Amino acid sequence: MPEIKVLDKVIANRIAAGEVVEKPASVVKELIENSLDAKAQNISVYIKEGGIRQIIILDDGTGIKKSEAETAFLPHATSKIQKIDDLSSISTLGFRGEALASIASVSEIELLTKTENEAIGTRLILSGGEVELNEDSACNKGTKIIINNLFFNTPARKKFLRKPKLEESEITKIIEKFILSKPTVKFKYYVDDKLIYNTMGSGLKDAIYTIYGKEVASNLIELNHVEKQFKITGFIGNTQISKPNRTYQTLFVNNRIVVNYLISSAIQSAYDDFLMKGQFPFYVLNLEVPFDSVDVNIHPTKQEVKFENTNQVYGLFARAVHSALIGIQHIKQLDSPTEQKPNIDLAKEFASIFSVSKPKNYSNELVFRSDNLGGTKGYASKTNNEKEINKTASLDNYNQIATQIFEELETAKPYSRVVGTLFSTYIIIEKENYIYLIDQHACHERKIYDNFIKELNSDKTMVTQELLVPYVFKCNQEEWQFFYENLDNFKKIGFNLEDFGDKTFIINEIPFIVNNLDLEKFITDVKSNLQKFNKTKLDLLKDFFAVSACKAAIKGGDNLSQMEIDALLRDLDEHKTLLCPHGRPIVIKISKTEIEKWFKRIV
Ligand code: ADP
Ligand code: MG
Repeated sequence: MPEIKVLDKVIANRIAAGEVVEKPASVVKELIENSLDAKAQNISVYIKEGGIRQIIILDDGTGIKKSEAETAFLPHATSKIQKIDDLSSISTLGFRGEALASIASVSEIELLTKTENEAIGTRLILSGGEVELNEDSACNKGTKIIINNLFFNTPARKKFLRKPKLEESEITKIIEKFILSKPTVKFKYYVDDKLIYNTMGSGLKDAIYTIYGKEVASNLIELNHVEKQFKITGFIGNTQISKPNRTYQTLFVNNRIVVNYLISSAIQSAYDDFLMKGQFPFYVLNLEVPFDSVDVNIHPTKQEVKFENTNQVYGLFARAVHSALIGIQHIKQLDSPTEQKPNIDLAKEFASIFSVSKPKNYSNELVFRSDNLGGTKGYASKTNNEKEINKTASLDNYNQIATQIFEELETAKPYSRVVGTLFSTYIIIEKENYIYLIDQHACHERKIYDNFIKELNSDKTMVTQELLVPYVFKCNQEEWQFFYENLDNFKKIGFNLEDFGDKTFIINEIPFIVNNLDLEKFITDVKSNLQKFNKTKLDLLKDFFAVSACKAAIKGGDNLSQMEIDALLRDLDEHKTLLCPHGRPIVIKISKTEIEKWFKRIV
């Protein structure tokens, strides 16, 4: 274990001095950081009256050597920096060596600690920073630190404390962030003797469940994205759990909680295609970067973080989140069908297929008789004269019956049925036990987009078409620079732009796939989003251009032909991403069960 030393002046001055102890929550934060730095696997936190009356932190970390216990409370005493070079590669949470000293100066402290190699532990009592007692004490390996009567000797400070409930809620927030940032550590958190959190150290997903509950935990997408020296891990919410504000967003850099506008807007931008305006994604993400490429020490509470290459970090997050979102199922389900016994399912399915495929004037109707089933394999076929057949048919002859009935039908069993179109916008489809409402325009747009992206990502060169009349557009300086720097990128995605001088460009070729493209709309859209993009992020650009191009390629109010509808339906099963490129749902799925509930046929 490294020795505890008093920092020399040079280092001390390098570290911007900050108020460590401004409120109970900051004490809790510092002490938990110390426990984590001491490699504790179990940390218990007890607070009384919002931490003002008492804070106890108990850990099973390395402990402090008897000979160093008093030193730890001296200003700028730390075991975490031994020389100036260490400052640029710091991996521990604390390192200023001022927490214990500052906390001790404004409270009454009792410390109990023991290292692995010592036979007996140490008990230290301090008041207002003065050591009042230092004695041997039997205790387990680890550290217990009790802070009593915070700010007892600084009444002015004490007056500024808020109501215990408010201080408490701030401490709770801090505990939650630690639970998320160290999901393999077991935390116990007691407020006025009541156990609030008790985590198992069983991973991030469980930690998220503990703090945000089942709804959030069951709508997560795992992220594991490695790019060069960067690694992003954690969970993002799918589009079902978007929130109206940013309070559900947690970001760590090298496991240290940070607030970073750049990253939060990069993530938000990745959700642009998936969330409606005013909605914010859920995420708990950790970025691992080499310690020397970030500066986390620019703000006294160490929540701000500065990156060497901001563009790189922006692109990294946008790509990571976007690609995770593209790969998931976005279908909106109004009702998750209740589990049914397989044979009942089979019968129901059979019944519904049958009635779906039945021409209107066909008299035979196979009905599902719930009263007949009772867990056995019974089917009833109702004919014109109400004759019931095979009430107790066994599964063995199920196929036989099915075949018979199908043979009676003139039409073959269709896979699904278009019921009609609502308000010239929504196609209604019945398929098995579900109704699908499809927004035809969103769907059309998605199709163009997906095909576009597919073509972009294939190694083949983009199929383009030459414009009969080239499109000419003028730019301001900033816009010109953007287009100029991205001429190659535009070319890669099928747009052939030529610099025509005087800040003017000519487009003479566009991707074949967006042949209805409204170029004016497209260029305006690109211009108005310039700040978001940068020449180094080709993938992002590709995506963005694709979205813009598709938006511009769709004409509002078009009615889809039967052939187009058929094509959409074919795709329905293959499509994973059932959101249009702007994030509106394409398909709403309603189960038969749900409808039966509406009509109180079932409860
Ligand atoms: P810093 O954490 O910045 O080094 P602190 O004032 O918080 O400064 O702590 C001073 C020193 O006391 C630490 O460097 C560490 O060696 C020791 N220490 C504090 N808390 C603990 C703990 N819970 N377990 C083991 N050592 C601790
Ligand atoms: Mg510390």
